Amino acid sequence: MTDCPRFTGPNDLHLHSNHSDGTQSPAEVVRQAHAHGVRTLALTDHDRTTGWGEASREAAQQGVSFIPGIELSAKHEWRSVHVLGYLFDPENAALQDETRRIREDRMGRAERIVRNIARDYDLTWEDVLTQTTKDATVGRPHIADALVARGIVRDRGEAFDGILHPREGYYEPHYAPDPLTAVRLITRAGGVAVIAHPVTAGRDRMMPLALIEQLIDEGLGGFEIDHRENTDEGKRMLHGIAVEHDLIVTGSSDYHGAGKPNLPGENTTADAMLARIIDRATGTPPQLADA
Ligand code: AMP
Ligand code: FE
Ligand code: FE
Ligand code: ZN
Repeated sequence: MTDCPRFTGPNDLHLHSNHSDGTQSPAEVVRQAHAHGVRTLALTDHDRTTGWGEASREAAQQGVSFIPGIELSAKHEWRSVHVLGYLFDPENAALQDETRRIREDRMGRAERIVRNIARDYDLTWEDVLTQTTKDATVGRPHIADALVARGIVRDRGEAFDGILHPREGYYEPHYAPDPLTAVRLITRAGGVAVIAHPVTAGRDRMMPLALIEQLIDEGLGGFEIDHRENTDEGKRMLHGIAVEHDLIVTGSSDYHGAGKPNLPGENTTADAMLARIIDRATGTPPQLADA
């Protein structure tokens, strides 16, 4: 354990900026987190780390501690699995190659989805590009925003429940590594891997227990348990596994700016758990504000 952790909670370890599918710049995300009382935050954009610099500068300005992170896309069979990574080396070549591959494939995939939708609705690829910043990891949320701008749906939620849902037939998958590879990449880059929202009800259900055991053997750090999309039954089960294997458990908002109702600090991570993440990581030091 860290003798005297210099960060002070509340700790929110999962927020998105417009470098992925959040609607605000990294600096604005930091200001919003601060305004909601968060004192340590992690920026965890999907499949990229380009927001770290801006977020870290703003965190220093605001006097909040900053934990560099990522939410790495993975896939088990048809299930999308999200792996949070903290305090890894962003220059790690294997991780960089993999995130680049995911981002490039996401781009072509988003174009394919738009082409499918354009058969039935007035939507163009240009509409989607208008909704993304220069370097953003493009995903269905940006297509949702384009559908909103066209007046086809009211908000992202309606788009995901309708046109963007796989059952509607416009959906296309994108490349993602399997969860074992994702955990290994983060761990070998000196980071700590935490499975994001592992037990959501509607979305993708849960990975098989056997796979979770394999991930633990591979060096998985823990689970994000306090997240609004995890089911109560799932949370109880994960707590059991976490105690059994002495894993880290976290809580986070998964803030996306105006893209989701989630607010910074709505779920938080215990100081002792964050201390374990910091102690375990070797890739990048945390940026701790003076307490
Ligand atoms: P993609 O990775 O491109 O398939 O899109 C999945 C992303 O969409 C996730 O990262 C979520 O943040 C976001 N998302 C999923 N469901 C919803 C929803 N109902 N409302 C807003 N955003 C959503
Ligand atoms: Fe997202
Ligand atoms: Fe996620
Ligand atoms: Zn997320």
